[in-house]
Amino acid sequence: MNLILFGAPGAGKGTQSALLVENFDMRHISTGDLFRKNMKDKTELSKKAKFYIDAGNLVPDGIVIKMVEDALDQLGGQEFILDGFPRTLEQAKALDEMLERKKLKIGKVVSLEVPQAVLVSRLTGRRVCKGCGAVYHISAKQPKVEGVCDVCNAVVAQRKDDSEEVAVNRLNVYKKSTQPVKDYYMSFERLEQLDGTGSTSEVFERIQNLLKN
Ligand code: AMP
Repeated sequence: MNLILFGAPGAGKGTQSALLVENFDMRHISTGDLFRKNMKDKTELSKKAKFYIDAGNLVPDGIVIKMVEDALDQLGGQEFILDGFPRTLEQAKALDEMLERKKLKIGKVVSLEVPQAVLVSRLTGRRVCKGCGAVYHISAKQPKVEGVCDVCNAVVAQRKDDSEEVAVNRLNVYKKSTQPVKDYYMSFERLEQLDGTGSTSEVFERIQNLLKN
């Protein structure tokens, strides 16, 4: 089943997607991850997107939509999770058109609901490995050696856009631009809201239960 995973920055979309990929052999299409990969590789696309990402603002729709369409074209029939897309009404409508053209269907649209205070603490405390992308947290999940990744020994550091100022802006941008998208899916009775608080495994269990129904 193909999924759209909604949720504010820090809601746990990436973590839950990784578990879904591991357990159900799905492809994870995260627009945030795709942008970060482009920035690491210093691609042409990243030059257009970096300015927005560094400030915690949304990258223009045209750029994101094209990037997602390319990712969908590379699926080769594999089921997928869309994480971080769509984030605007224009993106949601473009996605519907794209899916129809490609004869693909979304089985469930799941929104991970987490209170703002928890999101701020998750984002500002998050640390990420610069090598393999493994995710840590200054209190909830520290690497064995401070600043060094358990998995690949590369440097573990804070993402530039997880600083408090940018993180708070990202949460505000999310609230403003994504609410119309949630309303859009609600109007088709397609949005399933799920409690995103608690441990990773608790949330994953809730998602699995939802997928069974
Ligand atoms: P994320 O890791 O999903 O929080 O994404 C990091 C940043 O990438 C966001 O703050 C945006 O600047 C950009 N981004 C990711 N997905 C989208 C999207 N669907 N539309 C516009 N910008 C996006």
